[in-house]
Amino acid sequence: MDERESPYKLVAASDGQSRSLVRVGDRFVGAGTFTLVAGACAVETPEQLAAACEAAVVAGATMLRGDLFKHRTSPYAFQGLGADGVEMVAEQRRRFGLPWVAEVLDPRHLELVADVVDVVRVGARNMQHFELLKECARSGKPVMIKRGFSATIDEWLLAAEYVAASGSLDIILCERGIRTFEPSTRNTLDLSAVPVVQRRSHLPVLVDPSHGTGSRALVEPMALAAAAAGADGVMVDVHPHPASARCDGPQALLPGELAALGARLRELAVWTGRTVDGRATPAVKEA
Ligand code: PEP
Ligand code: MN
Repeated sequence: MDERESPYKLVAASDGQSRSLVRVGDRFVGAGTFTLVAGACAVETPEQLAAACEAAVVAGATMLRGDLFKHRTSPYAFQGLGADGVEMVAEQRRRFGLPWVAEVLDPRHLELVADVVDVVRVGARNMQHFELLKECARSGKPVMIKRGFSATIDEWLLAAEYVAASGSLDIILCERGIRTFEPSTRNTLDLSAVPVVQRRSHLPVLVDPSHGTGSRALVEPMALAAAAAGADGVMVDVHPHPASARCDGPQALLPGELAALGARLRELAVWTGRTVDGRATPAVKEA
């Protein structure tokens, strides 16, 4: 813990306090584990979603993703299927029996996704939408908070503090890159944020190398680097036909690429002393 007074109270690491394990269904994220979240950026069609989920499961993912609502920079870009995609998510979630992670853009979305989403995600563009954070906290579901692309680590942790102060410590942070002067990547993936957050907070922190780089070729090196840096997991996009994806095709891995990445991540996670199935053993629970 840094030697200064912490601006956040409930999410701050305190001396001797163990790192958190956040329970998601029958899985755990955090202390002693390494979680692979994988799947679709957006729910598009039943076939696309099924293929993305199969690829994720083959790669060893223990949580699936697939958004019904997309927060796009342009109002003319695909905004997600919304309510029309709920049954597709329900089907894949039943099929694999794994927790589902998806973004909500507005408190009204919480009711719509209540039966099919296990972790509600607040995206980078909404990181300081404090009323949304409070409503997510009250939903009873774990909340994943992406780092805003112009947010400092303290601002990110204060966003988490809003959720904690509203009654829920089931919070998972996710680094997804920040805006810098460097145009070669979509964002500059701030991997140093991982150990910084882990010194300041007990909360688990994942890394999203897909949105963090915007480029398929960079996803594997940055995912491996995230695991080596001690991230509690990574979240990765996969698409059966990236060229025709309605959202973020250039950063989506192909199923075979995700399988190869999953195998390497498992080795690295085990090598760094983490379990990869998300099932907390008593030793992990005490960690
Ligand atoms: C996403 O994960 O699909 C996403 C939109 O990410 P971010 O909020 O980090 O841009
Ligand atoms: Mn995306």
